[in-house]
Amino acid sequence: MAELKLEQLSKVFGEQSVVRNINLTIPQGAFTALLGPSGCGKTTTLRILAGLEQLSDGRLWLGGKLLADKTTHEPPECRDMGMVFQSYALWPHMTVAQNVGYPLKLRKINGAIRHKRVMDALDIVELGSYADRSPLELSGGQRQRVALARCLVSEPKVVLLDEPLANLDRHLRGTMEQTFRDFHRRTGATFVYVTHDQAEAMALASHIAVMHKGELMQWGSPQDLYQQPQNTWVARFIGKGSILSLPAPVNTPYLDSVLLHDGFTGQSCHSVQPVLVRPEHVQIAEAGLSAQVEHCIYQGERYLVALRLSDGQQLTAFHHLPLQQQQNIYVRMHQGWRLEAA
Ligand code: ADP
Ligand code: MG
Repeated sequence: MAELKLEQLSKVFGEQSVVRNINLTIPQGAFTALLGPSGCGKTTTLRILAGLEQLSDGRLWLGGKLLADKTTHEPPECRDMGMVFQSYALWPHMTVAQNVGYPLKLRKINGAIRHKRVMDALDIVELGSYADRSPLELSGGQRQRVALARCLVSEPKVVLLDEPLANLDRHLRGTMEQTFRDFHRRTGATFVYVTHDQAEAMALASHIAVMHKGELMQWGSPQDLYQQPQNTWVARFIGKGSILSLPAPVNTPYLDSVLLHDGFTGQSCHSVQPVLVRPEHVQIAEAGLSAQVEHCIYQGERYLVALRLSDGQQLTAFHHLPLQQQQNIYVRMHQGWRLEAA
C-alpha cells in the first residue's frame, strides 16, 4: 500500500507559520489536487512530501513507512517519488532523450536498458521522434511532456506536480489535461497535483484538498466541494454562487427546497443564516422574490445575470435569454445549501 499520510503536518519559516497542522490521507493511486490561492502553502506542502523541505512538526508516511518527522528525514532520492515543475527544469545542453534518461543515469542504469526505457517513456508522451532534439527547439507543451517523461522513466509510486500547466496558454492546457489523465491511468501512481485553478483541479482530480492560509479547509470530491462546501470561504472559492442571509426558518415561500445540514428544522432557530445558492438553481419566474437586473453577460451557451434583491442582497442566475439592465423581474430558488453560521 502506497497511501500517503500527512499527520499534523506543519511548517514554519522564521516567524511565519506557512503550513498548519494538516491531516490528510491520500489513497493509493488517486489523482488528488492541492487547491488554493497563491501563497496558501501548496508548494511548501508538496516540497515537504518530496523531501525537498524539512517539516517543522508532524509526520509523513508512505504506505507503512515513516518518511519524515521532527527527527527523521528520508532523502528525496529514496522516496520513490517523481516531481514535475511549472518551469519544466530541463537541461538546455542535453537532448530530449538525455534529459529523460538522466534519472536512470544517476542510478547507473546504462546501455540498451536505459535507451529502451527512455524511448518507452517518450512514446507515452508522443515525443518518440523528438529524442535527439534540444529542448530549446520545443514548444512549451512539448517541454512539459518531456518533463513528464523524465518523471515517468523512474516509475515512481508518487508523482508530485507543481502547477505544471501554469506557463501554457489556455488552449494547450485542455490538451495537456488529457495527457495528465492518460499518464495517470497508465502509471497507476498516486498523483498530487498543485494548482490555484479550481476548474483545472475539478477537471482532473478525484479528490481535492482545499487550502487557505496554510490550513486544510476541506477534503473531498469535486462534487462535495461544489455541492456541500463546509464553510463560507470554500463556498466563495469554488464555483459561482451567491451567499444570502436569510431569516430562519429558511424555507420561506421563495425557497422551494433547501438542503440543510444536520437535520436543521428551523423551529428553534431565530438567527439569520447564510445560504449558498448556485446560479443554476435560480429561475427567472412569473412570480416570486422581486429583483432588479444589474447586468447580464453573454457567455455563449447562456447568460450570466447579476441581480439585486429588494432587500439589497446580490444574487447571480443563469438565463437563456438576455435581460435589460434595471429590468424588474421575479426569481425562484430551487435549492440552497445552508452554511455554518459565520
Ligand atoms: P503557494 O504555492 O500556495 O503559492 P508557497 O508554499 O509557495 O505557497 O508559500 C507559502 C508562504 O510561505 C508564502 O508566504 C511564501 O512567501 C512563504 N515561503 C515559501 N518558501 C519560503 C522560504 N523558503 N522561506 C521563507 N518563506 C517562504
Ligand atoms: Mg506554489
